[in-house]
Amino acid sequence: MEAKAQDRKETPVYSGFIKYFPRAIKAVARLSYVGNQQHNPNKSLHWDRSKSGDELDALGRHLIDDILEKVDDDGILHTTKVAWRAMANLEKMLEENAPTNNVVELTMDLGKCYECKQPFKPSQVVRHKDKERYCEDCYKNI
Ligand SMILES: [Zn+2]
Repeated sequence: MEAKAQDRKETPVYSGFIKYFPRAIKAVARLSYVGNQQHNPNKSLHWDRSKSGDELDALGRHLIDDILEKVDDDGILHTTKVAWRAMANLEKMLEENAPTNNVVELTMDLGKCYECKQPFKPSQVVRHKDKERYCEDCYKNI
């Protein structure tokens, strides 16, 4: 199969995301709307990245707040805000590693085996020795 077609097949946006998390996606989208109204009232919906970019600190705060009480002062679940911050953090991380919208490139560079120079794939076992990283096959022979 052509690499691009294979990549589309292995990126099931509908069956592996929308169908998995329909309520969560709606809740996060609603929070985007509420946040936009709060930060930029009556402006069209957009992610204002100049506001509150401390994704992991905010995520941590909402995680703790969720333990203390489920609902934030604005009526939104802290867990929804945790999910929104996790998405924002992931989006920024992927952008830094793949600054295009090309789905083929929407994965992290996982580096390559020190011996055979083959790039590591997600879920592949990576062995470490003397600060170098090896694939399973090469690790057996060193
Ligand atoms: Zn190798």
